Amino acid sequence: MTFETAFTIDTSSIKYGPGVTREVGYEMKRFGAKRVAVFTDQRLSRSEPVSITLQALGAEGIETAIFDRVRVEPTDVSFKEAIRFAGDGKFDGFVAVGGGSSIDTAKAANLYSTYPTDFLAYVNPPIGEGLPVPGALRPLIAIPTTAGTGSETTGVAVFDLLEMHCKTGIAHRALRPWMGIIDPHNTRTLPKMVAACTGFDILSHALESLTALPYHQRSAPANPTLRPAYQGSNPISDVWASRAVQMVAENIVRAVEESNEEARAQMLLAACFAGIGFGNAGVHLPHGMSYPVSGMVRSYIPEDYPLDHAIIPHGMSVILNAPAVFRFTAPSNPKRHLYAAELMGVDVSDADPLEAGNLLSSAIATLMRQLGIPNGLSAVGYTEQDVPKLVAGTLPQHRVTKLSPRPFNETDLKQLFLESLICWH
Ligand SMILES: [Zn+2]
Repeated sequence: MTFETAFTIDTSSIKYGPGVTREVGYEMKRFGAKRVAVFTDQRLSRSEPVSITLQALGAEGIETAIFDRVRVEPTDVSFKEAIRFAGDGKFDGFVAVGGGSSIDTAKAANLYSTYPTDFLAYVNPPIGEGLPVPGALRPLIAIPTTAGTGSETTGVAVFDLLEMHCKTGIAHRALRPWMGIIDPHNTRTLPKMVAACTGFDILSHALESLTALPYHQRSAPANPTLRPAYQGSNPISDVWASRAVQMVAENIVRAVEESNEEARAQMLLAACFAGIGFGNAGVHLPHGMSYPVSGMVRSYIPEDYPLDHAIIPHGMSVILNAPAVFRFTAPSNPKRHLYAAELMGVDVSDADPLEAGNLLSSAIATLMRQLGIPNGLSAVGYTEQDVPKLVAGTLPQHRVTKLSPRPFNETDLKQLFLESLICWH
């Protein structure tokens, strides 16, 4: 095998500032769009961020049509509905206002209305065919209203494939929004549990990209087109990921519990920083394991989420696996795991490298406990009997799990899920 010798860093253009949503019309006009579809969810459709967006686009003479049926944690069915809307509307630009769900839905709508084909064609293998996107997409501006996914900076769109009860996605550089508009005013009304889950998603993005298999330990692609978007950790993504870990550790409690303005602004920036990190380096086991955890939910509904469907929010399903995973991966690079713990505020000056995994995992668990995250998979409805199915649902998530810094097999995965049933005693 020849090892990889190159890596790339791509990101969206970013505009940051309190109140800067009002510049979306100016930006869309600059991109040449005249008829724009605005994607959002029902909870947000009458919110200030959406009305300011519509107003700003209208003020520049841009026609708009709103799609407010984005599903929180989208599915293939909800994606297809959005794709039909985009196809029928003959749009030349897209705006997404909302969390990762709205942004990812707009990415899919943009892709399939520009290059229509069978739905599974662009979906990640082995579930879909993983065909590369044929060319450039239309302008998409993402305006996040949660500080979490960092979807405004990445070329990834995630959804649940209902018939297989699993989460998968579409990943290609061309999906990346042309611009992310990051406006701290837009996270003012974030409910507590939503802020906590999305905050832990940021933390895990940053920790996973920081500890992912280094890019030069992956095999080299046969040609540059085949180089994956998720390339492994590298010196540039490390900078963004490290800073994001620190920002989350310093701000998550004040942002969630007090909705403190400055802390919320820092979390929104941290989401973007972590997005630049993992959008190029990738994530690994906590995300790979989270997909069946979310996909196989039976009846769990957390506080502050809509009551119409059972849901284990993305950030929650990720962080529940994280403590066990980092104990497992620490031996691959104890120094880096210790550094991650240090970024979270742990004093590691006299730490034994053998303790790296425990130190990092207990720092994560302490924050989870403090912010009311359930104590492990058993607290969201899973038992030991579910573990084989959770393992089976993780194995197809190659795109992310192959970036685990430590090789693993089915037995290891089983052990990781068993340890994740309860996170702290
Ligand atoms: Zn995530």
